Formats: sequence, structure tokens, C-alpha cells
Amino acid sequence: MATNRTFTMIKPDAVEAGNIGAITKMIQEAGFRIVAMKMTKLSQETAGQFYEVHSERPFYNDLCTYMSSGAIVPMILEKDNAVEDFRTLIGATNPADAAEGTIRNLFATSIEANAVHGSDSDENATIEGSFFFSETERY
Ligand code: ADP
Ligand code: MG
Repeated sequence: MATNRTFTMIKPDAVEAGNIGAITKMIQEAGFRIVAMKMTKLSQETAGQFYEVHSERPFYNDLCTYMSSGAIVPMILEKDNAVEDFRTLIGATNPADAAEGTIRNLFATSIEANAVHGSDSDENATIEGSFFFSETERY
């Protein structure tokens, strides 16, 4: 069933670089409503759980180390066609391929340290949002 919500995280590189405000501003100006938001930190283990789907990929261990290297800002976002529109707003995984003006084009530093996460389906948006937020933490 389609939903109008997606899930994102501002990743450690973008938090460390002081880009929480700029990225959040872009998200809101693109028409997304912030339904849940906090600053937190993953451990190697919880990063591994979040990225379990990538556990067979060669970059998995590095990814979990990177994602647990500093603070992150997870958010649940609401908008019509949220999952697809947010993937458009963030751009391609590799910032070298990300369209001009996208969040990854502007703020990512590498294919790994690519500034933000964006859910790839309605189903995963629900699973990923529930990983960080209880029902009572959503507005
Ligand atoms: P996306 O975040 O665009 O959905 P994936 O789901 O394929 O991309 O990968 C999850 C995350 O793993 C990426 O956002 C990035 O941080 C990292 N990653 C993906 N591909 C690579 C790679 N080839 N080398 C290192 N890290 C990667
Ligand atoms: Mg993905």
C-alpha cells in the first residue's frame, strides 16, 4: 500500500560539516513536512541492523563504521509521493553522478559519505521510520 511518508537521516559527514540547517531547509522548501526528528548516534551493531539488507555487499563493514562515527539526524517526512520525490531531491548515491542542485550534489563528499539517506520504497520507509521512532514520537 502506498503511503505519503518517507524516512531520511542526515549522515555523520553532513552533521560534522555543520549542514543540518541547510539540508533541513532544503527538505522543507521542497514541500516535505517533518513528522519526527532527533539527533542520535548509531553503534557499529545498530548500524549493522539498519543496513542488514546490504550485509553481503563489499562496503558493508566500512559503511557501518562510517555510520557509527558521529551524530546522525533521523527524520520521518510527509509529502505526496514522498519516497520518489525525496529520492529526486537527494540525487544519485554517488555525488559524482548526482544532478546539479540535489542535496548529495551540494553536500556529499564521497559515494560512502553522501550526506543523507533516503528510503527506496514505501515498505522500507515504514520499517526504517519504526527503527528510530515510536508511534508517540510522530507528529
Ligand atoms: P542509497 O543510499 O542511494 O539508497 P544504497 O542503498 O545502494 O544507496 O547504499 C546504501 C549506502 O551505502 C549509500 O548511501 C552509501 O553511503 C553506501 N554505499 C553505497 N555504495 C557504496 C560503494 N560502492 N562504496 C562505498 N559505500 C557505498
Ligand atoms: Mg538504499
